[in-house]
Amino acid sequence: RSVRVTGARLVSPNGLRYLLVLHDMTDLQHLERIRTDFVTNVTHEMRSPLSAILGFAETLVDDAENLNEEVVDAAERIQRNARRLDDIVRDLVQLSRLEHAVAPEPQPTDLRALVAEIVARYQDAMLAKSQDLQVRLDDLPERLEVDPQLVRQALMNLVENAIKYTGDSGHITIAGEVTADRLRLSVADTGPGIPLEHQARIFERFYRVDTARSRLVGGTGLGLAIVKHSAALHGGSVHLESRMGRGSRFELVLPLPPEGSLGR
Ligand code: ADP
Repeated sequence: RSVRVTGARLVSPNGLRYLLVLHDMTDLQHLERIRTDFVTNVTHEMRSPLSAILGFAETLVDDAENLNEEVVDAAERIQRNARRLDDIVRDLVQLSRLEHAVAPEPQPTDLRALVAEIVARYQDAMLAKSQDLQVRLDDLPERLEVDPQLVRQALMNLVENAIKYTGDSGHITIAGEVTADRLRLSVADTGPGIPLEHQARIFERFYRVDTARSRLVGGTGLGLAIVKHSAALHGGSVHLESRMGRGSRFELVLPLPPEGSLGR
């Protein structure tokens, strides 16, 4: 069976006492496994019908000149909604991969190159909103022992959110430093900020601060859950500091192997 142990040290008039509590986690873990397997199967089964819907909608939209307006309008709506569903399925697949993964695959990684690649990818989106981006990674060693896929995925989601939720002419900063045996990577924006009462929950699947507005800006509600799982799989964590009207700053903290193992 799987057991979790918690405990406390109690100071009583008769001296020190220790309290140990054994929690049997077997059933909970079994249920969690059923849930993640279910999500994996459902998303897998949804993929092919969804790609058929997308394909046929695209055929209709491409043939717009030979069709009447109502049909074209309906085809465009089908296409828009199927794309949304496709994004959700893609993120759920990503999340269930992370939930089933057993260990990260660290390798010497050039983080400056990895961030440059992400910045290039989002350049047009930032340009469209006249946002500027600063990258402060100069103090990082040339290579760091991290799992590049996990870091890329987490950073991409954070940068995408920063762009999406920050208004026109906002500023975004990506920064990194190594302190002791930890890598700290942050993405900060000058956007609307996240109300304190929502901050503890926004890393949950499908949790969104303002459902109506979030739907308008797009997204699946799974981005931050993916960030949290990527960090956790890496043995790290993600933190948020945000003040209303001032902006948000997300920080990924990832453990690094002991100094010297990479010639740092
Ligand atoms: P979504 O697909 O809705 O962006 P996420 O999991 O990435 O899903 O984010 C969850 C919610 O957290 C968003 O709907 C939004 O309300 C809030 N949020 C995330 N990042 C930011 C940010 N940089 N600024 C303001 N709000 C944010």
